[in-house]
Amino acid sequence: SFSIQNIPQLPPDPLFGLKARYSEDPRPNKVDLGIGAYRDNDGKPWILPSVRLAENLLQNSKEYNHEYLAISGYKAFTDAAARIILGKQSRAIAEDRLVSIQTLSGTGALHVAGKFLKEFYVSKTAKEPPVIYLSKPTWANHVQIFEYLGLKTASYPYWNDETKSLDLDGFVKAIEQAPEGSVFLLHATAHNPTGLDPKPDQWLKILQAIEKGNHLALFDSAYQGFSSGSLDKDAWAVREAVDKKYSFPIIVCQSFAKNAGMYGERVGAVHVVLPEHDTALNKAVLSQLSKIIRAEISNPPAYGAKIVSLILNTPELMKQWEDDLVTMSSRISKMRQTLTAELEKLGTPGSWKHIVEQQGMFSFTGLTPAQVERLEKKHGVYLVSSGRASIAGLNEGNVKHVAKCIDEVVR
Ligand code: PLP
Repeated sequence: SFSIQNIPQLPPDPLFGLKARYSEDPRPNKVDLGIGAYRDNDGKPWILPSVRLAENLLQNSKEYNHEYLAISGYKAFTDAAARIILGKQSRAIAEDRLVSIQTLSGTGALHVAGKFLKEFYVSKTAKEPPVIYLSKPTWANHVQIFEYLGLKTASYPYWNDETKSLDLDGFVKAIEQAPEGSVFLLHATAHNPTGLDPKPDQWLKILQAIEKGNHLALFDSAYQGFSSGSLDKDAWAVREAVDKKYSFPIIVCQSFAKNAGMYGERVGAVHVVLPEHDTALNKAVLSQLSKIIRAEISNPPAYGAKIVSLILNTPELMKQWEDDLVTMSSRISKMRQTLTAELEKLGTPGSWKHIVEQQGMFSFTGLTPAQVERLEKKHGVYLVSSGRASIAGLNEGNVKHVAKCIDEVVR
């Protein structure tokens, strides 16, 4: 007979565990620089004005109900989402060689992409699924998402700890040495955790090497608009890959968790870019992606997708959203400057310029695990042990205090 036994208890997830410790900490001046969620200048979660407007519109429209969506999701959303990341002028959209499906935010997009690749992107000779190459370091969940599916992961050099800059040579060499047909996961913008993105000329070298090695580019776009405040600028690398004359296959995983502040609503999509127009292949790919969705979640959540769709498809709301992105990205950028200036004022040992040079939600501070532990225990300042700080957790009210705490643990 069967019984449920021998179940080892796993340690808490590092990030959500940190969130729990922060919540239980009674110190009034505690600071949360852990999880990557935007906070306003009062340290509060922010419902974007564009989202509030869309919610009002939705609740007064005939689209407002809680019915099931189609298996492939809300088409007005997936179509508009593709235009946001690939651009209105995208050749892939014009030539009808794009297959889009709605997913459980960015995590769901990566999961569906991984599942699809495992089954259908298989080596002709070895009959094996590809190895997924991830940047070193990367978002902690990447490894888990792919290994959970039974895929092998490997890493490519990315962050040079000494120079606090991109290890482009190491990155390109890893692409060149990877077995033909490997999958390279590329952070589209605002690299998590380092906040360091390749410059356009560096992107060209990366994309050329991917082309040469006959690899697949798997873009993870979780922060479009957070680096520069501009959706178009932050989509540069994805659009360069999709619309220039490269012939490698591309999949784009897209999340609206951060840029629309829809974290818990799970709004996302996966876009498979086919190399050429082929109606039968389009339909076949869509049918397979739909099968995954049907088996796993039956159909994706409706509310957030309807809200984001209204924003993307209504010019006034779109304008408001673009303003909201500037509000978020410029507040973060101001906090980077203030933190660096405060550390310099205190004469904190070391160089802190990289905090201003990095972009997006995070800064890879260079603080050691021991310093991070002291920040939490002694000062109630919470960040992950890698030294990654969510700059969105800083505000006018706590940034000086945080600088003093960093100064204390560094000395
Ligand atoms: N990819 C990266 C690099 C991330 O940092 C995140 C969230 O932190 C995601 C994907 C997916 O997030 P979500 O599933 O909330 O959209």
